[in-house]
Parts: sequence; C-alpha cells; structure tokens
Amino acid sequence: MDAIRDAILADAPADELAALPLPADFRAALVRADEQEMFAGLPSEEKDPRKSTHVEAVPLPELAPDEAYVAVMASAINFNTVWTSIFEPLPTFQFLKRLGKESVWGARHDQPFHIMGSDAAGVVLRVGSAVRNWKPGDRVTVHCNYVDDQDPSSHDDSMLATNQRIWGFESNYGGLAEIALVRANQLMPKPEHLSWEEAACNALCNSTSYRMIVSPHGAQMTQGQTVLVWGASGGIGAYACQYVLNGGGTPVGMVSSPERAALLHEMGVEHVIDRKAEGYRFWKTDTEQDPGEWRRLGKKIRELAGADPDVVFEHPGRQTMGASVFVAKRGGTIITCAATSGFTIEYDNRYLWMMLKTLKGCHFANYREAWEANRLVCEGKIHPTLSRVYPLDQTGEAATQVHHNLVEGKVGVLCLAPEEGLGVRDTALRERHLDQITLFRRHGG
Ligand code: NAP
Repeated sequence: MDAIRDAILADAPADELAALPLPADFRAALVRADEQEMFAGLPSEEKDPRKSTHVEAVPLPELAPDEAYVAVMASAINFNTVWTSIFEPLPTFQFLKRLGKESVWGARHDQPFHIMGSDAAGVVLRVGSAVRNWKPGDRVTVHCNYVDDQDPSSHDDSMLATNQRIWGFESNYGGLAEIALVRANQLMPKPEHLSWEEAACNALCNSTSYRMIVSPHGAQMTQGQTVLVWGASGGIGAYACQYVLNGGGTPVGMVSSPERAALLHEMGVEHVIDRKAEGYRFWKTDTEQDPGEWRRLGKKIRELAGADPDVVFEHPGRQTMGASVFVAKRGGTIITCAATSGFTIEYDNRYLWMMLKTLKGCHFANYREAWEANRLVCEGKIHPTLSRVYPLDQTGEAATQVHHNLVEGKVGVLCLAPEEGLGVRDTALRERHLDQITLFRRHGG
C-alpha cells in the first residue's frame, strides 16, 4: 500500500498510478461474525464499539465489471457504523448473507468479517471493463446508495429499488479501509477546496438531509417556511440547518447544551432550543406521554420563530415523535429517516388527521440527489461539519464517541492519508469559505 499512498501524496500522473501493482491484501476496520453475540443481554449504552471493532488485513476481492477500487484517503463515522459495531438492531451479517445469494459477484460480500464505512474520499485505482465515466487517478467521493441498475424497479427513483442497499452497512468492503470496493454509480467528484477528511465526511449525511429538506421525494421546503430540526448540530441535523438557511427558510435548531447552541448561532441559526435546559419530559413514564410537554415545546417554537413548523426534521424517534406530530403546523410535514431512541413509535393520531399533516418516511438519496448535494459542497454552498478526526486504528474509539452523543457534526477517519489537511487543490475557494469549513473543527477539536 505504501507505493500507492506515496504516489497519491506526490500527485503522480494517472498512468503511473494505474501501473502500480495492487496489493494482495489491505487493512480495514471490521467486525467479526464469530463475535456477533458478544454483547448479548447488555443495554445499548454498554455495548462498546472499541471491543467489537478490529483493524486488520483482509484479501483484496476480485473487481466486478461495473466496479472500481478506490484508494481511500479518508472516511467517516456514521450512525450506521455504530449500529454495525454494536450489532443492533440486528447483526449486519444477515444483510451480507442475503447479498451473497443474489449473484456470483454478490457472493464476495458474504464473509466472516464485515468491513464498515459508508463514506469515503480517495483516488480511483482501477475500474472494471464496463465502467465508462471514471478512470484511474480520478479524485472522488463515494455515496452509499448501492443499487443494481439492471433491476427495472431502480429506474424511477433508485431508492425505491427492491434490492436497494446502503454500501458499507448492507454490503461489505466499505470505506473504513485502505481500499474500498464501490460500484461506478456511487462515484462523485471530490470537492477540491477540501482536505481528504473534510471531503470524506459529507456524502451520507449531506445527501440524506438534501433529500429530506430539498427534494420532491422529501419535504421540498419552500422559502419562508419554518423547520424544526432535531439534533441540529449532529450528523444530519447540521446539514439540514444549512439547507433550510440556503433555501430561505427559518430553522429552529434543537440541541442539548449551551456549547451546541453557540455553534448553531455561529452557523447563522438564530432560533435554538436547548432541550436539556428546558427539561422537556415528553414521556411521563415508559408507556405514557405528556401532551402538556408537547404544548410547552410548541409554545416555545412560536415564541422564537413566530410560527408553527411547516416541516419537522425527525430522527430521534420514540422519544420525540409524539411531540413532532403535535407541534407541526396544520397541513405541515413530519419527515423522518430514523428512530435512534426507539423504533416503536407512538403519537396521537388526531393531531395528524384532523390537522391534515403528513408523516413521510425518507431514506438516504438517489444518485441524482447525492450528486446535487455533492455539487453544492463542490461550489462552497454547503460546508463540511467535521469536528474530530481519528486514525483508522482508532475507528472503535471514533464510533464510541458518536454512540454516546459526545461529538458535534461529523467524525472523520484517516485511512491512507498520513495526516490532516492534505489533498486541497482549490486554495482560492477554500480561503473564501475557510471560517465555515473549519467551524465545527474549531468547536470540537
Ligand atoms: P448524530 O450525529 O449522533 O446526531 C444525532 C443528534 O440527535 C444528536 O446530536 C442529538 O443532539 C440528537 N438526539 C439524540 N438522541 C436524542 C433524543 N433522545 N431526543 C432528542 N434528540 C436526540 O447522528 P446522525 O448522523 O445525525 O444520525 C441520526 C439518526 O439518523 C441515526 O439514527 C442514523 O442512523 C439516522 N440516519 C438515517 C439515514 C437514512 O438514510 N435513513 C441517514 C443518516 C442518518 P442533541 O443531544 O444536541 O439534541
């Protein structure tokens, strides 16, 4: 791997890079099938990604005709890295087995290890014989919509494809590794004003928030609308706030500390609620919610923004959904992509149907949406929210930080990049937006 890393760091020409021999194996952050029961019986908080995550060498798989090997300079932690490493809600080896049965190429994924990671930035090393738009030497970011484009169901909105998967979560050979195996239709240009780790942290969360806020498949927010964003300084929330601001809306950011509130103010989010300071208790007991607390939240949002939210950006799930459905404006939309605090949701349906609200499910993004979201990063209109960076060897620690809600924005992981700050080509664009690019890093350092 050293020769490949050195060639990339030296900006070697594409033909030189393409001529370098591929290694027989490469290092990767993975969980093992024989350890998938290691946390059985423990509560989620006690399941420790540092115990389940290993960084070790694995053999390089064969390349399919529609795929590329990417030399990964940097990757990032997503919440699905946490899910994989604590084997919740179920061990991901089941996904790999299912993929393994689909085709000869799918069988490569069914291994006794699962390489995690649904984000990456790096350089294309080789492409399969059917790849037209990419070549060795291309500097890329990778989005995680893993779609079989020979399936007719993938051709309206590929997120509706019957066998749509999230790469690095429902497939093997993800981004937390020195080499990633990706389909050509996952590749996007690297934003050249960003370092490798800044470029690597966006695709999953940024594309998800783009679809949820901007796309007709999501809430399609219009100018002047008010949007309540849960976890507004978190992975998806901080991109959601940027989209609301860019689109002429008014975000109301929900956070859990004064430091996070200050960070949002610096991002330009005027209205921020510290849910801890307010002491909301939406659930009186494990089984009963408190509508008085929903009302108290609704009043607070009105006081701040002067209106009920047209859109609620929802992902905490069980803890907050009752409140989210209640506070949304008459005719408003609750757009949800997750349920971090519990999948079994309860809300008072009267507030949904009698107030003509829409509860809409959303999941990652199709290639066009991911491409648009990446284009906005490339143009300096959406900024990375990178707050911390770890080496590949400390992937377990990095996932632990996200698991326990200890970080803002995104956590990066250096794979082949030996240090932070490398890979920038467009220094003029970087200078113009330096404050915003480094905002979370300055806070989270
Ligand atoms: P994250 O970086 O950990 O941020 C989540 C934020 O939610 C936290 O910063 C926290 O903010 C807030 N939060 C956590 N528990 C909460 C609770 N009980 N009540 C209220 N707020 C709470 O995670 P993320 O990357 O933003 O992801 C969030 C969820 O979305 C995860 O479940 C993830 O798997 C899912 N997701 C789904 C998709 C998809 O395509 N379907 C894509 C990306 C992420 P405060 O403590 O400051 O309030």
